[in-house]
Amino acid sequence: MKTEMSPLKVGCGKFFHGKGAIQYLPGEIRRLGGKALIIGGRTSLERFWDCASPLFQTDGTPYVALTHTGSCTTDRAMEFVKTATDKDCSVLVAVGGGRCIDNVKCASVFSGLPVITVPASIATCAATSMVAIMYNEKGQRSPAVNLKKEVDVCIADHDLIATAPRRTLAAGILDSMAKYPESLHKKQVTGYQSCDLKEYIQIINAKAIYEFLSGEYEDLYTNNGSARRFDDAILTNLLHTSIVSGFANGSGQLAVAHATYDFIRNYHTSKGSAFLHGELVAIGLLIQMSFNQCRSSEIEQVRQIMRRMDMPLTLGDIGYDTSEESLDFLIKHLAEDSDIRTEPEMIRLKNAVLEAL
Ligand SMILES: [Zn+2]
Repeated sequence: MKTEMSPLKVGCGKFFHGKGAIQYLPGEIRRLGGKALIIGGRTSLERFWDCASPLFQTDGTPYVALTHTGSCTTDRAMEFVKTATDKDCSVLVAVGGGRCIDNVKCASVFSGLPVITVPASIATCAATSMVAIMYNEKGQRSPAVNLKKEVDVCIADHDLIATAPRRTLAAGILDSMAKYPESLHKKQVTGYQSCDLKEYIQIINAKAIYEFLSGEYEDLYTNNGSARRFDDAILTNLLHTSIVSGFANGSGQLAVAHATYDFIRNYHTSKGSAFLHGELVAIGLLIQMSFNQCRSSEIEQVRQIMRRMDMPLTLGDIGYDTSEESLDFLIKHLAEDSDIRTEPEMIRLKNAVLEAL
């Protein structure tokens, strides 16, 4: 019997990044049918129009704009589909962070309309990833919606992204760095012979991301848009990171850092809502590294990066109750979600969580 083949879904149709990238937006809208439904969070849209309104004024490209509020839900995606149909829009444009971008990507899956993403920070590999991470109205995780094909166009404009709060920069840096220890979850990889080539591609690319960001984070955090490698950080976070995720998708399972994120969204929903995706992943990253038995100097280096960028460092910092009962509850979920079963692995996980207090 033929086994089901799941295709790799990697990259995006076109990726513009750097200074002046936004000027390509009207042309891409015209190429994709000529009328846009532009959807963004309130503050993201304000920043977006500061950069983009002269272009639309000169060019005359027609559009309808909508403000995204609340959670990223399938109901909201259906509302976007209805507006796009009622107003005869040919292409969806998502402006902002992960929540809005994933919501619009989901609307693109439901409607079949093409989608252009305009990320407003580097804290969002959603801009080019092949999956829309969905939530319910309360902000808890719902099943993800897979895209049928890649995001059509991503426009990652230097000046727009440089106006993002510094906190998103820090969160984005740690979220992307997490890919490397996560790619080594439960694996001993010594070279391409010791694993599947897809896994190896994932690992060496994740390593390149980790090296780049741990080398440049200080300049990026201090100097933001004037940092010497700012455009390379855009490329790293908004494209390279999602390519790594694309190669990881077949494994169909979370590693510890992102399992920690999911856990906090599901079971520490209200207090956890004050924290960004990457901030929660970062705490999970420390647990992951300890579980992987990384050297303590390496773990300390990551903690130092987080400290330097004023991020929460511990489960206590994000208001998670650290009684024995609550920790056991966390450990049980992390083990289930990241395929940790054997006794020695369970002990390592428990110790790793205790270190993250
Ligand atoms: Zn992430």
